[in-house]
Amino acid sequence: MHAHAVARLHLENDLRRALAENSELSINTPLTQNSKNQAKKSKLLLHYQPIVSLATGKLAGFEALVRLSHPMRGLVSPIEFIPVAEETGLIVPMGIWILREACRQMRLWQLEFPDLAPLTMSVNLSGKQFSQPDLTEQIKQILQETELPAHCLKLEITETVVMENAAAATAMLQQLSNSGIRLSIDDFGTGYSSLSYLHRFPLNTLKIDRSFVKGMRGEGEDSEIVKTILTLAHNLGLDAIAEGIETADQLEKLRSLNCEFGQGYFFSKPLDSNAAGLFIASNLDNNY
Ligand code: C2E
Ligand code: MG
Ligand code: MG
Ligand code: MG
Repeated sequence: MHAHAVARLHLENDLRRALAENSELSINTPLTQNSKNQAKKSKLLLHYQPIVSLATGKLAGFEALVRLSHPMRGLVSPIEFIPVAEETGLIVPMGIWILREACRQMRLWQLEFPDLAPLTMSVNLSGKQFSQPDLTEQIKQILQETELPAHCLKLEITETVVMENAAAATAMLQQLSNSGIRLSIDDFGTGYSSLSYLHRFPLNTLKIDRSFVKGMRGEGEDSEIVKTILTLAHNLGLDAIAEGIETADQLEKLRSLNCEFGQGYFFSKPLDSNAAGLFIASNLDNNY
């Protein structure tokens, strides 16, 4: 228990330092002065995983996924540090940094690839962020600052977070949606959803959790669950993204069930910003 508490405290400290480092970097300290120490410091960075249209094979957007780059430990997974960031409240300033960075990057790509069909940038929101009363205002300011059109941003929220306080969530989702921002339910099928609320929320997309995609074989139970989620999404006027597609078989199956979009190692792992830029360039005339 002691070792666990110490590790957690270290992680909390690393997160605080990383956040401070990230905000310092954005003030444009001269690179030469910084580069010597930079390798030794913890910092946050975003990776981007492609989301692909299953009908056309074309790139439809990216999901931004945060990483902690640690001088000793390398890249630390969000599964490990997001819970700590939530407990300490650090998720709020961190979430703002993530939103700004993701919007800034998408705007850069739009300028770099002007002939590209508009891509969507999906950003995960945690429960604590979602309950900040000024969330919509903050995001609108970020969109203005980065000059990203609101419809190019999509927020991913889990069922559990929206259902915990469905009345407040309805108001928040309505505000966001009125601002032109798109909304997805993440990891759909793993939490608890009240169907009567689901149809009242102004959603655009259900993301089918990868645990169901993983087990999709022949006519098994998981295939039935995926079929049912797709029917539900389409009846509610939503589109669907299948998470965690790893094989051509899964892709074929999902395509035949008219799932609109897919994401997973079969297409690409999450990429750093340079590699993601190359992915866009190579997808300009690509079909799967
Ligand atoms: P998520 O939002 O459901 O993100 C999808 C996760 O599945 C990512 O893990 C991604 O790398 C992984 N994945 C994608 N395709 C495949 C595949 O084909 N096979 C397998 N096995 N895995 C795949 P990652 O990046 O470790 O993120 C884990 C979770 O951490 C995310 O789940 C999300 O809940 C949270 N997270 C990540 N970035 C952020 C963030 O910026 N803010 C917040 N609040 N949470 C974040
Ligand atoms: Mg997500
Ligand atoms: Mg997910
Ligand atoms: Mg997931």
